[in-house]
Amino acid sequence: MHNYDTLLAAITPQTGPAREVHDPATGALIGTAPVQDVADLESAIDRAAAAQPAWAALSGEERSALLHRAADAIEAAAEPLAELLSREQGKPLNGPNARFEVSACAVWLRTAADTPLPVEVIVDDGENYAEMHYRPIGVVGAIAPWNWPMMIAIWQIAPSLRMGNTVVAKPAETTTLSGLALVAVMNQVLPEGVLNIVAGPGRTVGDALTKSPRVGKIMFTGSTDVGKRIIEASANNVTRLTLELGGNDAGIVLPDVDAAAIAADLFWGAFINTGQTCAALKRLYVHDAVYDEVLEHLVAFAKSMPMGVGLDEQNVLGPLQNRGQYEIVHRLVESAKASGARVVLGGDPDHDAVGNFYPTTIVADIDPHNDLVLEEQFGPALPVIRYTDLDAVVGLANELEFGLGASVWSADRDAARQIAARLQAGTVWINSHGGLHPMVPFGGAKQSGYGREFGVDGLKAVAEPQVVSG
Ligand code: NAD
Repeated sequence: MHNYDTLLAAITPQTGPAREVHDPATGALIGTAPVQDVADLESAIDRAAAAQPAWAALSGEERSALLHRAADAIEAAAEPLAELLSREQGKPLNGPNARFEVSACAVWLRTAADTPLPVEVIVDDGENYAEMHYRPIGVVGAIAPWNWPMMIAIWQIAPSLRMGNTVVAKPAETTTLSGLALVAVMNQVLPEGVLNIVAGPGRTVGDALTKSPRVGKIMFTGSTDVGKRIIEASANNVTRLTLELGGNDAGIVLPDVDAAAIAADLFWGAFINTGQTCAALKRLYVHDAVYDEVLEHLVAFAKSMPMGVGLDEQNVLGPLQNRGQYEIVHRLVESAKASGARVVLGGDPDHDAVGNFYPTTIVADIDPHNDLVLEEQFGPALPVIRYTDLDAVVGLANELEFGLGASVWSADRDAARQIAARLQAGTVWINSHGGLHPMVPFGGAKQSGYGREFGVDGLKAVAEPQVVSG
């Protein structure tokens, strides 16, 4: 699978129902994806359940070695994987996009493989002895969204396999090929049945996966609405859940910043993956004293970042992955315009042009309760809100049901840390937004979900804790 055509051929269905897949940048046909159903899902669960005891019986070192070999396979196929990801998802090869995503898959896999989780002695006082083991759960269901379809799948798959579980993955409908390709590459080295994948539709196959009594844990990343449905579905079997849901992250810029110095990080915090990122900066609150200056530098930087077809090496911003998301962004920007907010960049899409391109858009002097601020835009349109009172802005940052990430921007780290303590978010970044590390727990507060991925917490999340006492 070292070239694009071989990779595509390996995942192209030979039999059964299939549908066409089109490039969101050009509309060109890029391949066909299988359309699967609940019977296919049941077969995949059969395979995963059958393979699990032997996979769990391997030593931790043996499993880790196989995960490293899977990471080697991803690296060997990195260019074709990135090309397919770019064509199907729309994200450019360059910038923090397709090549970055594929390389992150290998990094997360290797980190999960190398993170130790030894037996913990909890009590040993001469009279009492208790230790904590982390056993496999069994079969894990891994349901991914379309924005980072390979990387998020790996976040779910890597710790699950590391802990001795087998996996049934379900990619999003609109990025099915990316999920299939990743799994096909890894399955060149993994034992039969350990890693399985079933294509959508999500509402039937995904729903059945979450209701299966043979699946002990669901790792879900996607919208809060679907997350709530999964909570209901899990009740019958008391299925374990990790839910990484929507976000509408606030960034608060204090009056002491160097506007020129933070412009690039503000931009990428908001516009990474053309804004289609759960923990992107989605509402930027800037103090009145530096508002005009911050806006000016941000807009100047934004203007220098090219948007276009992903396979063109110069581009760092791409189309919206699907037309539905384009319409959401368009509706929210129109609502901002109608309210009298000032569009300082973009906001003028060409609806008849080829591809789902929505221009990089920055909206100033917007009411803090406009829909573009309150709803998750999940696209390249950033509202910049002017504030004067710090307590009031902390209140605005905390007023939504989301609580994935937040950021504080200041020359005074201690002052920023004090504000961080008041923000209701799973992660608060200082002078950056959205950076992730495979050893640092990541997850949401409030309705952005529960459970944590990555690092030791992430391994424990896909294990059954068992106390052995006496
Ligand atoms: P989505 O909720 O529509 O779909 C996510 C996945 O769930 C898809 O694979 C879909 O097929 C499947 N699905 C749909 N209905 C289902 C059901 N009833 N039961 C089980 N599975 C079902 O989300 P999306 O539009 O693909 O992704 C965008 C959303 O995901 C945004 O809200 C974004 O913030 C969120 N997101 C969160 C994180 C995070 O880490 N917190 C990361 C990326 C994206």
